[in-house]
Amino acid sequence: MSTARHEEFDVAVVGGGPAGSTLASLVAMRGHRVLLLEKETFPRYQIGESLLPSTIHGICHLLGVDEEIAEAGFLRKRGGTFRWGANPTPWNFAFSVSPKVAGPTSFAYQVERSKFDKILLDNSARKGVDVRQNRTVTDVVEGEDGRVRGLRYTDPDGTEHEVSARYVVDASGNTGRLHKRVGGSRKYSDFFRSLALFGYFENGKRLPAPNSGNILCVAFSHGWFWYIPLSDTLTSVGAVVRREDAARIQGDPEEAMRALIDECPMIGEYLAGATRVTTGQYGQLRVRKDYSYHHTNFWRPGMVLVGDAACFVDPVFSSGVHLATYSALLAARSINSVLDGKVGEQRAFDEFEARYRREYSVFYEFLTSFYDMHIDEDSYFWSAKKVTKSSDTELESFVELVAGMSSTEFNLTDTEAGVLRLKQRSAEFADAVDTLVEAREENMTPLFRSSVVRQAMQEGSQVQTRAQLGDEAGEVAPVFDGGLVATPDGMSWSEPDPVR
Ligand code: FAD
Repeated sequence: MSTARHEEFDVAVVGGGPAGSTLASLVAMRGHRVLLLEKETFPRYQIGESLLPSTIHGICHLLGVDEEIAEAGFLRKRGGTFRWGANPTPWNFAFSVSPKVAGPTSFAYQVERSKFDKILLDNSARKGVDVRQNRTVTDVVEGEDGRVRGLRYTDPDGTEHEVSARYVVDASGNTGRLHKRVGGSRKYSDFFRSLALFGYFENGKRLPAPNSGNILCVAFSHGWFWYIPLSDTLTSVGAVVRREDAARIQGDPEEAMRALIDECPMIGEYLAGATRVTTGQYGQLRVRKDYSYHHTNFWRPGMVLVGDAACFVDPVFSSGVHLATYSALLAARSINSVLDGKVGEQRAFDEFEARYRREYSVFYEFLTSFYDMHIDEDSYFWSAKKVTKSSDTELESFVELVAGMSSTEFNLTDTEAGVLRLKQRSAEFADAVDTLVEAREENMTPLFRSSVVRQAMQEGSQVQTRAQLGDEAGEVAPVFDGGLVATPDGMSWSEPDPVR
């Protein structure tokens, strides 16, 4: 092994998924020197195909790729269709009638991640990021003062490189190991602890118009299925089941998938005339487990975690790419503010961490309510997904996560308060869905009476509105008492206006 010359950057990003490419572009757009290292060569396969509007009309707009994405031929997603809850009637969650995300930007896309992620990564290169693929980062470099001051990576011929950077960003996703170097630990969730088995089918049935581009989620006794249309003929189909079913699934995935489809009549009906894809990037059945966790620390001097490297809740409401790109936006603002000499490091990263934890907690609560709402007394899977059955450690972990947030909506002091809050919010959400189903129409108003739904949509729609309105939509009030606000261009932080 040989060692190459030493290089210096302002920021070195590990991983070229949506979190890494978003952060790298937003920092390079401010004129800083950014290196991005990706261990694979794009296009590469990734799961996580169903997106939310704020990613498309908020983050992608800031990145300047919304037109390219609009022209890429991805299917439009008006929302989600759920066969889920106490009532057997499927119900729709449409983005278009949410009070804040109304109008021409009230849709998202179902994307083939190999294409979507490549568009974002190619854009980073166009924005001036030094993108190097097929390079594996092996470790971070610490200075004598304990600050992270760079990283080491290996290129395809085995040459080891050491790079200096004022910030190292770990965006290496679920499988990376660098997150350990930020300190603290990764805490896995008991509540969301499940396993996903997924594959791709040609010629599956579509929901009736205008919802044919919706994600369809169907609960059944052993778990639930996602059914995501990726083109007129291609569909991503996945079953989320108990972690304890791992042996059965890994033994013969093909047989396990067939048996699970047989147990879920609606998915069986949708796949009746379909064939499973058996070649190319979609040719195999894949399994993912241990995907629900959060890291106790999100940053340390010189290093920050974004996207799945920091946390992921659950696949049920398409929040992964939203949290990945949103955290990248927050971290980019903090890095830009510090590199520009506008805000001190501690203050800038406290803002990043508080907002990121809050958004993660909002989705954690929303998704807990989603599971808690479904009623199937005889099912091991669904009875384990009751808030009242959650273990103390799970709830302590949730309370820990939101503790210290000075905003009123997260005013929790102990585990008991955490349980009470989760129970109340779940019941409220279940009532809202019942009202929606009874109304038998596409009027989302009942859902927005539920505080978990309102909160889950709130920050995304603000990111979207600010990105669309540009300089006219500067943030006026801080999210947290004594906190910072986003600058009008959305790219960094500033102190709030003292007169307000
Ligand atoms: P990634 O997309 O994982 O990118 C990380 C990159 O880092 C990779 O390209 C990897 O090659 C690279 N890398 C890793 N280690 C190194 C290294 N040492 N050196 C250099 N490069 C490295 N989200 C949704 O929004 N919608 C969905 O419908 C959805 N469904 C899901 C279903 C399942 C079963 C699961 C488990 C997740 C799902 N998600 C979904 C979540 C989504 O997959 C992730 O949240 C998202 O991909 C995170 O993006 P990222 O950029 O953080 O990480």
